[in-house]
Amino acid sequence: MLASLSKAFFHSLSRSRLLKKLASRYGMRRPTSFARRFIAGETVAEAIAAARAVEARGLTQTLDLLGESVTTLEAAEAATRAYLQTIDAIVAAGIGRNLSLKLTQLGLDADKASAIDNLRKILERAEPAGFFVRIDMEDSTYTDVTLEVFETLWHHGHRAIGVVLQSELYRSERDLQHLNALGARVRLVKGAYQEPKTVAYEEKRDVDQAYARMLKSLLSEGNYPAIATHDPVMINLAKEWARTNGIGPDRFEFQMLYGIRRDLQADLVSEGYRVRIYIPFGREWFPYFMRRLGERPANVLFVVRGVTADRG
Ligand SMILES: Cc1cc2nc3c(=O)[nH]c(=O)nc-3n(C[C@H](O)[C@H](O)[C@H](O)COP(=O)(O)OP(=O)(O)OC[C@H]3O[C@@H](n4cnc5c(N)ncnc54)[C@H](O)[C@@H]3O)c2cc1C
Repeated sequence: MLASLSKAFFHSLSRSRLLKKLASRYGMRRPTSFARRFIAGETVAEAIAAARAVEARGLTQTLDLLGESVTTLEAAEAATRAYLQTIDAIVAAGIGRNLSLKLTQLGLDADKASAIDNLRKILERAEPAGFFVRIDMEDSTYTDVTLEVFETLWHHGHRAIGVVLQSELYRSERDLQHLNALGARVRLVKGAYQEPKTVAYEEKRDVDQAYARMLKSLLSEGNYPAIATHDPVMINLAKEWARTNGIGPDRFEFQMLYGIRRDLQADLVSEGYRVRIYIPFGREWFPYFMRRLGERPANVLFVVRGVTADRG
C-alpha cells in the first residue's frame, strides 16, 4: 500500500515542469551531482566510460539511451538516429554490445508502424554487429502492443531481441507461459509504474510472491532469463532454485540498475554468477530518475543532501 502510494506520488511529481527544470539544472552539472548516482551522464562518451568501469569490476552492461513518451515522428526519428550513433560508438569503444530501449521513445504514441520501422532500423545495424536488444516494458497500457511488436519481429526471424515482464501485473504469468513456449528471452522485473488495481497487485507481498513463482518457471523453462532485481530474498531464491534443479550459472543472469546495491553486484560476481548492469544515460533522465525515487523514498534524503551541497 505504502509502496504504491509512493509510486503514485513520484509519478505525479514526474510531470511537474518546474521540478524538471530545477532537477535538470542541478542534477547533472558536476561529477558529484545527485542524479549521477543513477544516471551515467548525458553523453554517450560518459556512458561508455561508465560501461568500462562496470566491466572492469567483472560485470556486463546494457546501455539505455534515456527517452520515452515521444509524441512526434520527428522526435522518434531523432531518437532512432541517436541509437544508431550509440551503436557505432559502442562498436568503436570495444565494450559489450547490449542495448535497452523503449517503444514510446521510437514513436509508438505517434504511429505504431513508424515505431516498428524505427526499431527495425536499429536492429538492422545492431544484429549484424552482434548486439542484443532488449525492449523495456512500460506501463500497462503498453503491455499488449509491446508484446505484439516483439512477437512480430520474432516471427520475422529476429532472435537477438528480448522483452520484459512485470510480476506486479496479473496477466504476466500467462504471458510468461506463452513467451517460454516461444523460446523468447525474458527479463523479469517487479514493475516500476503506478498501476490501477484492476490490472496489478496492490500489495508488495503479492508482487513478490508472483515474482518468486515466475522466476522458478523462467529458470526451469525459459531461455537464458534475466532475473532483474535488487531484492536479496529473490536473488537467494533464484540461486537456490538453480542449484537444486541443476541449472548452471551460465544459463541465466542477474541484472541490476546502475548505482543500486553495488555491494550485492560484487558479491554475486565473486560467487561466479553473471551480473549485467543497466546503465541509463542521456539528457531525458528526469522520468527515469523519478521512478528510482518512487521505489525508495529514502533516496529523497540523498537528493536533498546533494542539492544543498551543490548549491553551496
Ligand atoms: C536491469 C533492470 C531493468 C529494469 N527494467 C524495467 C522495465 O523494463 N520495466 C519496468 O517496469 N521496470 C523495470 N525495472 C525496475 C523494476 O521493475 C523495479 O521497479 C526495481 O528493480 C525495484 O524493484 P526490486 O526488484 O529491486 O525490488 P524491491 O523490493 O523494490 O527492492 C529490493 C531492495 O532493492 C533496493 N532498491 C530497490 N530499488 C531501489 C532504488 N530505487 N534505490 C535504491 N535502492 C533500491 C533496496 O535495498 C530494496 O530494499 C528494471 C530493473 C532492473 C534491475
